Parts: sequence; structure tokens; C-alpha cells
Amino acid sequence: MDYGMISQIEKARLYANEPERVTFQALNVTFKGDNDTYTVTLDSSGWHCTCPGFQTHYICPHIMTLERVLKPMLKIPPLPYAPGQNVVSDVDKAARYATEKDRILINGFTVSIRGNNGDHSVSYDSGAWNCDSNSFRMRGVSSHTIAMERLLKGMLPEAQKV
Ligand SMILES: [Zn+2]
Repeated sequence: MDYGMISQIEKARLYANEPERVTFQALNVTFKGDNDTYTVTLDSSGWHCTCPGFQTHYICPHIMTLERVLKPMLKIPPLPYAPGQNVVSDVDKAARYATEKDRILINGFTVSIRGNNGDHSVSYDSGAWNCDSNSFRMRGVSSHTIAMERLLKGMLPEAQKV
């Protein structure tokens, strides 16, 4: 029995129940809208989406959806509504999309996560995980990566079995 692994899984459960421990620094999502598929990104310069609405208003239902779904893990304020934006329709859409997680495919992300023994950085890129913790170096998996798998369930292409 790998007791170290059991402790990792227990910690992961705790962290996944406290999503405010997580802060997203970067994100790349393929978003299936009603009419087309778009790429939504978050980085140090903020949100970006390839949909026509974003090009005009710098806010769109796809970003508003991710703001809802990832709320406790985003430490930046929601984007302000724009003049000329159909706010009622966009809020409506975002509320519906947020319940339809199969629209959201996460291609990559970088987060920091406040663990019991300090902050760690977790990244994911097209199926490849990385974490700067000792457990990850030893096992290729850590409480932090397991917690992120749980928190992003249904939005990652293929979940690792733990
Ligand atoms: Zn958009």
C-alpha cells in the first residue's frame, strides 16, 4: 500500500472542496457555441475569444460562461458589460451554457494552488500534466493535479484514472 498516495488523494479531496485555493493564471478552451466553435483564452493580458461578439464588445457569452463555471478560481473581476451588448440574451446564454459542460473543452491551463504546505503551480497542456511538488516528481501525480482533475471534471479531454 502506498500510504503517501493515500495522503495525496485525501488532500486532493480537501482541496477540491475548497476551490478558492486555486487561482487561474492561464487558460485555453475550445468552446462549442450554438452556431460555431470558438477559442477562449485567459492570460496576463486578460480574456480573449474568437467569436464575433467579443471583437465588438470585448465580452461575450463564452467568457461569461467560464466566469460562472470557474468563479471561485478566478481572482479577477468579471468583465464589464458593454454598451450595445445584448446583456439579457448573453446572461441567459451563459446561464444555459454553464449547465452544458460538454460545450467546454479545456486544452491547457496554468494555476497556482494553495496547499497545506505551501503554494504550488500546476499546468496542463493537451493531456500532459505538470506540478512543482515533490509528490509529482516522485509519482507523476500529486494532490494538486488530482484536485484540478476533480474541479474540472467533464471539461478535460480524458481524465486520468486515480
Ligand atoms: Zn465568445
